[in-house]
Amino acid sequence: MSRLFVISGSSGVGKGTVIKEFLNKNPEYKLSISCTTRNMREGEIDGVNYFFLTKSEFEKCVKNGEFLEWAEFSGNCYGTKKEFVNKCLKNGENLILEIDTKGALNVKRIMPEAVLIFIAPPSLEELEARLRGRHTETEEAIQKRLASIKLEIENSKYFDYKIVNDTVENAVKNIENIIFNS
Ligand code: 5GP
Repeated sequence: MSRLFVISGSSGVGKGTVIKEFLNKNPEYKLSISCTTRNMREGEIDGVNYFFLTKSEFEKCVKNGEFLEWAEFSGNCYGTKKEFVNKCLKNGENLILEIDTKGALNVKRIMPEAVLIFIAPPSLEELEARLRGRHTETEEAIQKRLASIKLEIENSKYFDYKIVNDTVENAVKNIENIIFNS
């Protein structure tokens, strides 16, 4: 039976790297592709990293009830299409959603069988350093992201599992333990 996992973590926590490594090792798991209104970053491809939508396209999907969940994050909208998730699960695929904690809790409400995993940073100082090290955002955007971290950690109280991203290798091992044994 196909299964649904939701992985969340504060911005800059390195969850993207951890998930990528997990997927390289376990190609039978598939990463969901979300919709977003944020600008495309260098190297990103429409339909691969995200489906990049305009604000009005996104709003139309919201109105039509096409999202399983959606949330505003750092001034941009992000959403998971019901159709995408349902198709994958119907096809027998094991799906991973990489979404924010608010979205994760909404998914759990609708699909209680989903397993929620939170990736925490080893320390807040380190997290701030990682965010700045990416050099992909303005100072204002970084400040916004730092402000949302508190909320993410607060929401993570309701998650099924929490792991600390001390090293990528350890974090991947912990995720494998959870996914294979839950
Ligand atoms: P980024 O802009 O760095 O790609 O993502 C910012 C945040 O949006 C991350 O915390 C990411 O997990 C979250 N996110 C990405 N896709 C979705 C989605 O479909 N729904 C929700 N709720 N959050 C998402």
